[in-house]
Amino acid sequence: MKTIPYARQTVDEIDVQAVADILRSDFLTQGPIIERFEKAVAAYCGVKYAVAVNSATSALHIACLAAGLGPGDVLCTSPNTFVASANCARYCGADVDFVDIDERTYNMSAERLADKLCKAAKKGKLPKVIIPVHFAGQSCRMDEIGTMAKQYGITVIEDASHAIGGRYKGRPIGCCAYSDMVVFSFHPVKIITTGEGGMVLTNREDLYKKLLLYRSHGIIRDPAQMENEPHGSWYYEQTALGYNYRMTDIQAALGLSQLAKLDRFVACRIEIARKYDTELADLPLILPWQDPDGQSAWHLYVVRVDVGKTEKTRREVFDSLRASGIGVNVHYIPVHTQPYYQRLGFKPGDFPIAEQYYQEAVSLPMYYSLTAEEQAYVIDSLKQVLK
Ligand SMILES: *Cc1c(COP(=O)(O)O)cnc(C)c1O
Repeated sequence: MKTIPYARQTVDEIDVQAVADILRSDFLTQGPIIERFEKAVAAYCGVKYAVAVNSATSALHIACLAAGLGPGDVLCTSPNTFVASANCARYCGADVDFVDIDERTYNMSAERLADKLCKAAKKGKLPKVIIPVHFAGQSCRMDEIGTMAKQYGITVIEDASHAIGGRYKGRPIGCCAYSDMVVFSFHPVKIITTGEGGMVLTNREDLYKKLLLYRSHGIIRDPAQMENEPHGSWYYEQTALGYNYRMTDIQAALGLSQLAKLDRFVACRIEIARKYDTELADLPLILPWQDPDGQSAWHLYVVRVDVGKTEKTRREVFDSLRASGIGVNVHYIPVHTQPYYQRLGFKPGDFPIAEQYYQEAVSLPMYYSLTAEEQAYVIDSLKQVLK
């Protein structure tokens, strides 16, 4: 039996041709397509600058470096995320703290963040960076988070790995209206793909310049920015410790081709979500609540097994669906409960809402090429196990 995954890419012949064209061209990397891809994503989001990198993990890392995050600083994020949203602080030698999630959206709670910042301000230990994560593709309450961050002078980096193509208060997620930087992921399970890849968007030129520097070894080639007189036209200068986080032109060509399909991909995901919403309404499940202020990009469709209404556990539901060839998954194991983070002093019980949510969550198949028959099979299988 072929399994139905929870997520997968959609790559068509136009994408294949776009990649093949690059393979036959002069530049496999550091060519002209990267900039075209960056400009196209920036234009889509209505933002000035974009820097393409080899993953969202790298994007988060250089965004933190550009924000000046370092030893002694604190970065605050959600416990309900992929580990990369927190690890980027550790790469910079900074400490991580978490803010528990909202009961309905499973995003970082704006109220709990306000509470945390108020207490932190009194102690004189405010975080330097906040990373709200737009879980499943639904925006956090960015107006409130952005206002608080401004008030306290905190840099905001949105982890929008799930959310390209989504909207918030009438604008595309990624517009940087409420934050300093926004990060996208182009991993194949996400909304559009470059194989591996990520991007940082910003409206701030100072951050843009730093992002470029950290992406490529900390090296500059513009004589105007150099500390020394150039020795000749070959001369370059390393002015900071950067990395090789560059995206290839092969990947950028795929990204550019995928971007043309983004709205179509998201419209289809919205339809799939609507179908789940109607068909699963009578089952003992808590369905994903949607904030009327936004439009989710629907990276994930997460149901919670309603423990007040069924004897079945999440484990039983999960195992039964897997046994039926449905590749359900769980997003996320609360980051603070990972052994690495427990060694840093966190413990189970620290963020109880994220932990309770985790006990009940199952991510159902959600992707552009999921057929009506496949979705009907997922729905029937859920009805079977929960009847
Ligand atoms: C996928 C993901 C990342 C990491 O993305 P990569 O491109 O695989 O490095 C970071 N944060 C979140 C929320 C993600 O889902």
